[in-house]
Amino acid sequence: MKEISVNRDPVELRKMLDYLGVAAFVIDVVSADEFRLAANNARHEKLTGMKLDEVAGRSLTELLSPEMEARVKANYRRCVTSKAATDYQEALDLPIGRTFWQTSLVPFIDETGRVTRLLGTAYEISHQVHLELESRYQSTVMSAYLDESTDGILVVDADWRIKTWNRRFLEIWNIPEAIMDARDGEAALQAVAEQLEHPASFVQRIRELCASLGEKEDGVHIRMTDGRVLERYSRGLNGLEGDYWGRIWFYRDVTEMQRMTDKLLNMSQTDPLTGIANRRTLMDALEEEYRRARRYGHDLSVLMLDLDHFKKINDSYGHAAGDAVLKEFASIVMPEIRASDCFARMGGEEFAILLPESSLHSARLLADRLRSIVETLACDSPQGLIGVTVSIGVSVLRNTDTSPEHLVGRADRCLYAAKAEGRNRVRPRGDIEDCENVAPVPVGGSNSLEA
Ligand code: GH3
Ligand code: MG
Ligand code: MG
Repeated sequence: MKEISVNRDPVELRKMLDYLGVAAFVIDVVSADEFRLAANNARHEKLTGMKLDEVAGRSLTELLSPEMEARVKANYRRCVTSKAATDYQEALDLPIGRTFWQTSLVPFIDETGRVTRLLGTAYEISHQVHLELESRYQSTVMSAYLDESTDGILVVDADWRIKTWNRRFLEIWNIPEAIMDARDGEAALQAVAEQLEHPASFVQRIRELCASLGEKEDGVHIRMTDGRVLERYSRGLNGLEGDYWGRIWFYRDVTEMQRMTDKLLNMSQTDPLTGIANRRTLMDALEEEYRRARRYGHDLSVLMLDLDHFKKINDSYGHAAGDAVLKEFASIVMPEIRASDCFARMGGEEFAILLPESSLHSARLLADRLRSIVETLACDSPQGLIGVTVSIGVSVLRNTDTSPEHLVGRADRCLYAAKAEGRNRVRPRGDIEDCENVAPVPVGGSNSLEA
């Protein structure tokens, strides 16, 4: 002990310290306020950039910035005062940049009981500190996201225990707090399912997703009994080794968006005056039904309808009265057709009815019935009752037809024939399409497929 306190040869000290696997240094305690760096080992040199022959014997005031000196000295003083080993973590701004250290100081005490030296060992913990800072940063971002997100978010572990949720999740699902506090994923699932239109398929899908880490969901629609529509996004969470940590769920309330979408879809498919399907809807249905009828060899018929002398109605009673007649016409035809049929206003006073699974015979029966119902129509107007008649062309899909246009073209020609023969009638007359002899529909004439 005596020899050590007498021997102040830095080279001798250095030899001893170099054996240590940590950064080590020896501090001479000159007074309560003055400390000198007596020696450091190779590792300390390397990590701090302070060379032994440049720093040995120099006071901390010379080696460190005033702020760092104050911080370092405070720790040294603590060790000197307590005369006991002292451990602490510190941040040092060294020539190599800001680094973090776990440091231990051991005091050397002379015969008089005075602390004359401190042996310091330190290992760098910058990496751990950076990891901790990074994870603190991530969790700050995460909680801000959870707080502010308009999605309801839930995280469950692999055993279906609730790990995290946000305020919005509770708002959307209104799950009793006791369930969330107990982290009871199964009870939460039941509480959720009770609010759904299709609880069984919902629960089944949730279990499927939980059983497979790799399964993702992007915007699946879920309907609630109170009319709300939610969109669900979900993905599995896995650890570094690919082990299954659990799953994250996002629920987005898209009720308003869905309402707007439905409304726009409806607007794009219906005729605003009569509320029945428009030309585009009928053309889409025609394509679809044509394919189906071809595939299964089923019948497909079509009626083309055109109100007679409609121009005269407008001229005599005004355009508004004409509109009222169009609406009245649509509303008396509508109850006569099946849900699987498509009744559309093709434009102006021209209409079409698509009749899947209907033979020419039954299509013609319907056309006859419609013609006679329309004939009895008496539409009220300020100028008195308005009567109207309709001419109808009927056709049925033939084996030789190679496109839906052939079917509609024949119905159009039959309609033209009905007009030519005096209006208020249905063509063909019998169960054989007799439109072949009718001249082609003149350009700008009756219904045609071109918009
Ligand atoms: P035809 O018996 O040959 O079919 O004679 P028409 O007068 O019905 O035929 P035309 O095609 O010459 O005239 C159709 C008329 O329908 C002309 C147009 O002013 C009227 N019309 C078209 N769309 C509307 C509408 O939305 N409202 C009203 N009130 N009239 C319309
Ligand atoms: Mg007309
Ligand atoms: Mg017309």
